[in-house]
Amino acid sequence: MTWETVVGLEVHVQLLTRTKMFCGCSARFGDPPNTNVCPVCLGLPGALPVPNEQAVRLAVRAAYALGCTVHPRSIFARKNYFYPDLPKGYQISQFEGPLATGGALACVSPDRGPIAVRIKRLHLEEDAGKSFHDRVPGKTAVDFNRSGVPLIEIVSEPDLRSPAEARAYLAVLKQVLGPGYLAISNCNMEEGSLRVDANLSIRPAGSSELRTRTEVKNMNSFSGVEHALTAERARQLVATERGEEIVQATLLFDAAAGEVRPTRTKEEAHDYRYFPEPDIPPLVLAEAWLAREKQALPELPAAKRARLESAFKLSPAESVVVSATAALGDYFEALAARAGSGAGKEVWNWVANDLLSLSRDGESIPVPAGPAFETLALVRGGTISRQAAKRVLAELVQHPSEPAAAIAERLGLVQVSDTSAIEGWVRETLEAHAAEVARYKAGETRLMGFLVGQVMKRSQGKADPKAVNAALSQALE
Ligand code: ZN
Ligand code: MN
Repeated sequence: MTWETVVGLEVHVQLLTRTKMFCGCSARFGDPPNTNVCPVCLGLPGALPVPNEQAVRLAVRAAYALGCTVHPRSIFARKNYFYPDLPKGYQISQFEGPLATGGALACVSPDRGPIAVRIKRLHLEEDAGKSFHDRVPGKTAVDFNRSGVPLIEIVSEPDLRSPAEARAYLAVLKQVLGPGYLAISNCNMEEGSLRVDANLSIRPAGSSELRTRTEVKNMNSFSGVEHALTAERARQLVATERGEEIVQATLLFDAAAGEVRPTRTKEEAHDYRYFPEPDIPPLVLAEAWLAREKQALPELPAAKRARLESAFKLSPAESVVVSATAALGDYFEALAARAGSGAGKEVWNWVANDLLSLSRDGESIPVPAGPAFETLALVRGGTISRQAAKRVLAELVQHPSEPAAAIAERLGLVQVSDTSAIEGWVRETLEAHAAEVARYKAGETRLMGFLVGQVMKRSQGKADPKAVNAALSQALE
């Protein structure tokens, strides 16, 4: 039988606010343990939580970016459970009456092409503290700095059909919400500002039933998510083919072993006894405020790709590259505006091949658009070769205020189109490679490329390749 994989993801994203969700403590990552705490986030008796307006704003932007309906009235609720990193004994979250529901995220599946993954809900909540099992021998240590930091939880419908698709969805989610576009979060899995829990089940291909699923946790990278889901899918396939029943369970991914293992505790037995948070009134958002936030959203990757494709005649594969971040898209457009109409492809090549290779992070280009265009203009005018342009650009990273033309001059990269100099190099080359010349004359015309290369070498890359071609052809006649 052919089996189909069904995956849904729950993603927790830490919002980039200065302070925590319900108190004024700093939400900064990496401070010394237990230095950013107060009676509210430690759950001391009598302390009262007050929602953080900026956190609500960032959550609303995320919801609109994911095409969700944002509800003008939502309810905070207590999610009760016991764990040492949860000082109150409950987490303030949202249950019935979440902030937003019913969105979709468009992404490209490696198997199926463009897909839309439906978003079931997006709600606000606070984070728990962090337990350390390896700091104090024989004991568990807890850091409450993270306790009360604002999160959104984004729950997808089970619309993903493979581990690779799950990874593609996460990459787009990070692109939209992370520093490249909305910047509501760092979306850094290693630092825990984006965390993923995955539900996976299998079913006969073509069926629409939802079978018993398992939950996979403890992944700390996108590739970890793909590996963990691949391992869990394989485990379920083997069990099912053997006639065993899949048991609902929570599994932890062990990245070192590449395996998923059942947790010791039976987490499924949890009853969170949700009830509305008595200390916080319903969150009521003015329609005008919501409308302003929706209006102020930046252009998102999918819209940018579509626009760049039609305005600059780029292919989908090309538009993906220059829309990686909003800033890269702006850079491409700034350069294309200088290069003139119809130069989209030329500028794309320039950005993707010459400029992005200078980038440390693969996204931000260390040469401003002005000098980058001056360099392109030198190539267009035949002053320097494309190869020499790479050296000019690399030099511009070090000397951003030196004009590109001056750098080309200083590095001796200005092309020689002077015919007598080129004819001299051609003559020397033909003498040095008499054997190849004889073979060329006997019909091995593909040796032309070799001979052009030799002349260019003699000129130390300074000869204009077009002039070399012409001079060589003439000399060989
Ligand atoms: Zn606090
Ligand atoms: Mn949650």
